[in-house]
Amino acid sequence: KDPKARLEALRADIERRNPAQPEFHQAVREVLESLAPVFAARPDYADPAVALVERLTEPERQILFRVPWTDDRGRVQVNRGYRVEFNSALGPYKGGLRFHPSVDIGVVKFLGFEQVFKNALTGLGIGGGKGGSDFDPHGKSDAEVMRFCQSFMTELYRHIGEHTDVPAGDIGVGGREIGFLFGQYRRVTNRWEAGVLTGKGQGWGGSAIRPEATGYGSVLFAAEMLKVGGRSLDGLSAVVSGSGNVALYTIEKLQQLGANPLTCSDSQGYVVDEKGIDLALLRQIKEVERGRVSEYAQRRGPSARYVPGGRVWDVPADAAFPSATQNELEERDARTLIANGVKAVSEGANMPTTPEAVHLFQSAGVAFGPGKAANAGGVAVSALEMSQNAARATWSAERVEDELAGIMRSIHAVAYETAERYGAPGDYVTGANIAGFERVADAMLAQGVI
Ligand code: GLU
Repeated sequence: KDPKARLEALRADIERRNPAQPEFHQAVREVLESLAPVFAARPDYADPAVALVERLTEPERQILFRVPWTDDRGRVQVNRGYRVEFNSALGPYKGGLRFHPSVDIGVVKFLGFEQVFKNALTGLGIGGGKGGSDFDPHGKSDAEVMRFCQSFMTELYRHIGEHTDVPAGDIGVGGREIGFLFGQYRRVTNRWEAGVLTGKGQGWGGSAIRPEATGYGSVLFAAEMLKVGGRSLDGLSAVVSGSGNVALYTIEKLQQLGANPLTCSDSQGYVVDEKGIDLALLRQIKEVERGRVSEYAQRRGPSARYVPGGRVWDVPADAAFPSATQNELEERDARTLIANGVKAVSEGANMPTTPEAVHLFQSAGVAFGPGKAANAGGVAVSALEMSQNAARATWSAERVEDELAGIMRSIHAVAYETAERYGAPGDYVTGANIAGFERVADAMLAQGVI
């Protein structure tokens, strides 16, 4: 059978066996589509007797559990908890926890699958996993969030550990939640095991620059892509979606590098600020008050406008940073951005660009950085946090930021070179998928049938 037909048959089989998981299907399809040239070049990867891709697309373990907790009115609420331990060929399972009403097993599997290749691309010793819950932290009191996190960890603790599985944050899980989760892990295990979670507070085992890392890394990746074409971010305008951790530090790094981020958004609408986003005000509203971006426009003055229900992609800019959630940038948005002269797109979120939109960017010659490469800075600094924890060491912010910059440059280089090697110059999607795949595949082949 020719490699393309075999990959196509596998894809159909995965879709049949995993019904109603469209995000997982989308993530698998995108990777399998990149692999035909590798299969042609490397018969050992393609050998059906070894079933390498069949194993890679099947999580090693999937954990589903009940999370009961009591709200402030004394009523018992029930949520669902998930942890998908996807692949541990390169190290302990590593990946965030997402607390959002949209979370289901298909979403967690898509995120875990992406994480395997992303983590491989960092060059560090981390496997891939992901977890979360359909719990919505929005509008909950600190006490409710704490009780939820404690209940979640009361089940999760038995499945994780510094050498087994190391969760971190994702949408809806930041420093506050990691604190509550770590406290409960410590209590139920009677172990001060810093390396079991990353994204901890800096006073108790967290790494400098971890909160900044995903956003900073996404901007550094864009800078590397622009450099190939002899450009820089200095003086460019940018549109950023989202207003969480990734978006905030994307905005900060853009400003540090002389670019002008014009927008941010939440699930209800977006803000466009002609003078550029006032980061101190945005941080006050989002991080201190846990409010909405509409409040930013009210308080900022005449330069800012709030557009309820709209999308930041309508705002003309030189670079775009989708930093909110999956499938937030669709075909028509890509058309608008291209018509407005966008030069680079860097995915701070996981799979924020639909396949049709990715295709449009690539056909138009727009430099497109897929999340697996562009947003790997977050998990890379998580791995550096694990190193510091293992050594009981604390690195300076300068040191961590230097390491992060080096890792982002090397991810860019390996994705770029791999794309060239497989006859797809400038195609970072193909380059990142193949480079991540090769590293995991080699480890799996060396380790036998597991
Ligand atoms: N949730 C982040 C990601 O999508 C970070 C995961 C981590 O630090 O383990 O890569």
